[in-house]
Parts: sequence; C-alpha cells; structure tokens
Amino acid sequence: MSNSVNIPQSMLPEDGRFGSGPSKIRPEQIAALQRGGKTLLGTSHRQQPVRRLVASIREGLSDFFRIPDCYEIVLGNGGSSAFWDIACASLITRRAAFGSYGSFSAKFAKSAETAPFLENPAVFVGELGTYRLPEFTDDADAYCWAHNETSTGVSAPVRRVDGSLDQDALTLIDGTSAAGSMDVDVSQTDAYYFSPQKAFGSDGGLWICVLSPRAVERAEKIEKGTRLEGNRRWIPPFLSLSSAIANSRKDQTLNTPAVATLIMLEDQIRWLNDNGGMAWASARCATSSSLLYEWARRSDYAHPFVRHEDARSHSVVTIDIDESIKSDSIVLALRDNGILDTFGYRKLGRNQLRIGVFPSVEPDDVAALTGCIDYVVERIRA
Ligand SMILES: *Cc1c(COP(=O)(O)O)cnc(C)c1O
Repeated sequence: MSNSVNIPQSMLPEDGRFGSGPSKIRPEQIAALQRGGKTLLGTSHRQQPVRRLVASIREGLSDFFRIPDCYEIVLGNGGSSAFWDIACASLITRRAAFGSYGSFSAKFAKSAETAPFLENPAVFVGELGTYRLPEFTDDADAYCWAHNETSTGVSAPVRRVDGSLDQDALTLIDGTSAAGSMDVDVSQTDAYYFSPQKAFGSDGGLWICVLSPRAVERAEKIEKGTRLEGNRRWIPPFLSLSSAIANSRKDQTLNTPAVATLIMLEDQIRWLNDNGGMAWASARCATSSSLLYEWARRSDYAHPFVRHEDARSHSVVTIDIDESIKSDSIVLALRDNGILDTFGYRKLGRNQLRIGVFPSVEPDDVAALTGCIDYVVERIRA
C-alpha cells in the first residue's frame, strides 16, 4: 500500500494480537509446549501423562467455574460448532427455544431447525446490537442462547427462563467467547460450553462443557430411547454426548485430541486460577473493555456499536467508525504496524472495528491500541 502510516515504536502495544478468536497466546504457554516437547507431545492420549493433563484441565475448570456438586467438565473434539450438533442429537428431546441475535446464536437455531427428528424450534429474534432471550414456551424442553454474541459484541444475562425447571427443560448456553472473561453462575445452566481459542488462549478444535446432572440424565434417556424404543433418531457415535461423558470421566476423549492444544489450555487455566480465577479474569476484561468504550465515548469519530451499556461485551468490543473514515483502512494501517485482527465481523457488514480483550491481553496494551488508532486516523484524515 502506498500511503502507509508508521506508528512510532514507543506508541505500539507490546503485543499486537487483538483477535476475537483465535486470540493471543501467551509466551508462557509456548514455553509449556517446549517443556512438554518430549514427554507429552507425540505421546499417546490413552496413557498417564496426557490423561494427567486432561485431569488437570478438568479440575482446574471445576475450580475456575466454581461448579456445583455433581456438575462435571466434559470435553471432546470439534469445537463449539460440533457441540451444537451434539446438543441436537443428544440433549434436545423434541423442541427447543432459542434467543437469536447474531451469527453464532443463529447457527445453533439453524442446526435444530434442520434436524429431521426435532420439531421446529421457537426462535426469538433480536435486533443486531441487542440481545433477546428465549421466552417461556409451552412445549420447550431446552432453552438456548449465547452468553456473548461474538459477531456483534453483545453480552446477555445467563439466568434460567422462569418456569423452565418446572417443565423439566434444560438451559444450554454458548459461552464460547465469554467463558474465562465474564462472570457466570453455571448453576443457572445445564450445559455451558465453549472452545479454547478465545479466553483460554489456546488453539481451536476442542469443545468443553460444564454439564449438570440433569443434562447427563437427559442424554442417557434420549440415547436409550433411540436404542430400545426404536425411535427414528440417528445419533452418530461422534455426536453421542454419553460417550463423551464416559471418556471424559476417564480423562480421555472419544478420538485423538490435539495434545498441543491441551498443553496450552492447561497452562492458561493454571495461570487464571493462580491469579485469582474468575473474579480476577472478569475484572481484568472489564478494565480492558472499558478503556475502549471510554475512549470511543470521548472520540469524535468512534462510538460503541452496542447502545445499551449493560449489553456491552467485556471480551469482544465493537466500535463503529464514522462513515467518513473507512474502518478497513484503519485495520490495514494497524496491521502494517503489527497490530492484528481488529476487523469487524464480515457478515455484520458495518464500518466497524472489533477488538478481542480476553484475559491474556494486557490492559496497558489496550490503552496503547487506542493511541495507535487515533494516530492512524489523524493521518488518514489529513
Ligand atoms: C467462536 C464461536 C463459536 C464457534 O467456535 P468453534 O470453535 O469455531 O466451533 C461458537 N459460538 C460463539 C459465541 C463463538 O464465539
């Protein structure tokens, strides 16, 4: 590009990774890979060393999420996207109700809509930039929404729908870009699931889920019904939650996991817990995100996309830019200076920056980023 902008070295953040997932991986996590270079990497996931790693992940997450007795941590391959299909196959009995207010929450609703053995879901659609929770629905047996809608930077409350317990409905929450960044009371959920490439700063490819005993029971019941009563649901072995549970209880996964991902994840959970766990992580993300929202509030060309302060995400911050300045040119100029992945969600199609401020990101670097954006914009405008 011709009219490039050179940001002075002294203004740059120490680390330029601000992606919304994959997100910044701390150098200590890479050091952990090095340490496990001969003892874990390239060894069997069915043997003690890797199983101990998985056990540590499950224990560490139990602590981090302060899970109630009888809840458990279950994991498998395929990421949160795979968990949507697992939930359709193994957790929704007949009909689910969804809150849909962005790409990710819509995708899960779509999965349920296309599953031939499920009835058409009740979908409560919210305007982009807001959230909409599913409302009580007579025949619903599962209520589903996203804690944090990554495509728009909207966070939603996580609280059971009134009356849902009485009708024995489950609450299935997509915590992918919130887990590890925003406080949650998992006792309000039956499945709180996520992938490790966001707040847990690892690589993608795994799904992880905090499961309630009611969810475990539901999966057993659906799978047994499918076998014994011969109803027409096909549960592909890969999507069987019961077998994921059985494997997880042995600190294994159904099929081979990426051991490097497990190592980086384990290191991150340890780091979060050593620093003060969920309280520390959520305070840190609140600090980082408010640096951006406050900067935007003061700016004459930037403003928070999400109007209601309560709905503004603390992990994925979306900032609209005045139409007179192309957000793409800001993103490209930042990229030329080593500041990466600040683009908006493509399908949202707004003149917008989207900035991931997961716990691994230093608040000082977020402050530096705002200075860099101002610097770039002054020169683009000139
Ligand atoms: C990233 C993301 C997903 C998809 O996760 P994968 O690991 O790519 O399957 C789902 N839901 C939300 C809210 C996300 O942010």
